[in-house]
Amino acid sequence: MTTHEVDVVVVGLGPGGEALAATLARSGLSVVGVDRRLVGGECPYYGCIPSKMMIRAADSLAEARRVDDLAGHADVSAAWGTVATRIRDEATDDWDDKVAVERLEAAGARFVRGHGRLVGEGRVRVDDDEYVAARGVVLNTGTEPGVPPIDGLADTPYWTNREVMRVTEAPESLAVIGGGAIGLELAQAFRRFGVRVTVLEGADRILALEEPESSEVVRGAFARDGIDVRTGVKIERVSHDGGFHLVVDGADLDADALLVAAGRRPNLADIGLETVGLDPSARSLDPDEQMRVGDRLWAIGDITGKGAFTHVSMYQNAVAARSLLGEDGPWADYRSVSRVTFTDPEVGAVGLTESQARDRGLDVGTGLAKLEESSRGFIHKAGNEGVIKLVADRGRGVLVGGTAVGPSGGEVLGLIAAAVHGEIPVASLRTMHFAYPTFHRAIETALADLG
Ligand SMILES: Cc1cc2nc3c(=O)[nH]c(=O)nc-3n(C[C@H](O)[C@H](O)[C@H](O)COP(=O)(O)OP(=O)(O)OC[C@H]3O[C@@H](n4cnc5c(N)ncnc54)[C@H](O)[C@@H]3O)c2cc1C
Repeated sequence: MTTHEVDVVVVGLGPGGEALAATLARSGLSVVGVDRRLVGGECPYYGCIPSKMMIRAADSLAEARRVDDLAGHADVSAAWGTVATRIRDEATDDWDDKVAVERLEAAGARFVRGHGRLVGEGRVRVDDDEYVAARGVVLNTGTEPGVPPIDGLADTPYWTNREVMRVTEAPESLAVIGGGAIGLELAQAFRRFGVRVTVLEGADRILALEEPESSEVVRGAFARDGIDVRTGVKIERVSHDGGFHLVVDGADLDADALLVAAGRRPNLADIGLETVGLDPSARSLDPDEQMRVGDRLWAIGDITGKGAFTHVSMYQNAVAARSLLGEDGPWADYRSVSRVTFTDPEVGAVGLTESQARDRGLDVGTGLAKLEESSRGFIHKAGNEGVIKLVADRGRGVLVGGTAVGPSGGEVLGLIAAAVHGEIPVASLRTMHFAYPTFHRAIETALADLG
C-alpha cells in the first residue's frame, strides 16, 4: 500500500466532477481525479450528446417528411449508419476519453483510472494506493441503468442506454421499457428511422413526472408518428431466442430489440460510505447548500437527488468549488431547475408542476395556451402541437413553475425559467413586449389566462 498526500480527491468524473477537478487544480490545489470508466461520465459517451445526435438526425427526417404538407414533395430514405458514424467519430472518439484525460492533466490534475472507495474521513483507496486528502473528498459517482426485476429479463441481450449508443444498424422492431424522458426520446428517434416501436410504461401516463398536459401532447404526437404507446401495463416475462418475446398483461409482444430505460440506480453501494457514517443503501445523498455531505466530504451530480441532469451537475460543481476554495457563496438553490425532454414536440419544464405546487399548500393559479392556436403555430402548421402552462403562487404574485411543449420547447422555456428564477412579478411579465409571431408569444396568452 502506497500513501499519497494531496489536497482533494474527486471520485467519479462525470461532467461536474471533471470540471471541478480541473478548476481546483488550476487554483493551485493538488488534485487527484479517479474514474473507473470514461472521464466525462455518462453524458458525452452514453447520454446527452449521442442521444441528441440521434434526435437531431431523426428530426431532420421528420422535417423532410413535412415538406409534403408545406412545400411540394420530398422522398426521404433513412440510413442509421450516418448517425452511428457521427456518434462514434464526433461524439465519443470511439468511446475513448484520451482527449478528456489530457484536458484534465493539462489543467494540473492527476488522473487515476480505477474504482475509488472511501476508507475513512478524507481517505480514498484505489487498488493499492491510498490518497489522503487534506482539504477533502468529492463524490461524483453518478448512476447505472436501472433494470427492473422482470422474470427472464436478466438472461436476455437487452440494451440499456450504453448499448443503444453503439448500435450500427437499426432493428426492424423495438420494444422500449419505460415511458420517461430517455425511453421516449430514443423511441421516437428509432421510429423516425422506420423502426416499429412499442413503448411500455407501468404508470398510467407517459412522462408521469411532468404536467398531464405534456403527456397528452406527446402521446398525440407519438400516435401520429405511428408509435404504439401502452400505459398502465405489467410486463410479466421476457425471453430471447434470436428475437425478444415479452408477455405484457397476458398478451404476447415480439420485437427484434429491447431497450430498457426504466430509471437509474445510484452508484452509492460500493464506495465506502459506511466508513464515514453514511448509508450505502440510500437512494441519494443529502448535501447542504455548499454540497457538503460530511466532514471533509462533498457530493455533486445525480447522486444528490436534486435533478439528474448535466446542468445540475455543472451548477453543483461551481458551488462545491466555491466551498472548497473557501469562498463566500452563492450557495445552491433549486427553485428553478429546468429540464427538457427532447422529443418532438420538446417538453421543457422548470420549477414546480401544478400538483407539486398544490402539495406545498400554495395558493395556486394556472394559465394555459395552446400553441396550435397561436399565430406562429398556425403558420408553422405541420408539427405545431404544443402547450404553454404556467404555475403561479397567487399569494406572492410570481411564477413558481412552467412548461413549454412544442417546437423548440426547451428554448421557449428559457423565458419562463428566467421569470421563475428572478421571481419577476406576474404583473410585470404581463407588461412585456412579446415579439410577433414567435412561439414564446404564447406565454403572453398563458399569462392572460392565469387564474
Ligand atoms: C440516455 C441519456 C440521456 C441523457 N440526456 C440528458 C440531457 O439531454 N440533458 C441532461 O442534462 N442530462 C441528460 N442525461 C443525464 C446526464 O447524463 C447526467 O445527469 C450527467 O451525466 C451527470 O451525471 P453525474 O455527473 O452525476 O454522473 P455520471 O455522468 O454518471 O458520471 C459518474 C462517473 O463516476 C464514475 N464512477 C462511479 N463510481 C465510481 C467509483 N467508485 N470510482 C471511480 N469512478 C466511479 C463512472 O465511471 C462515471 O464516469 C442523460 C442521461 C442518459 C442516460
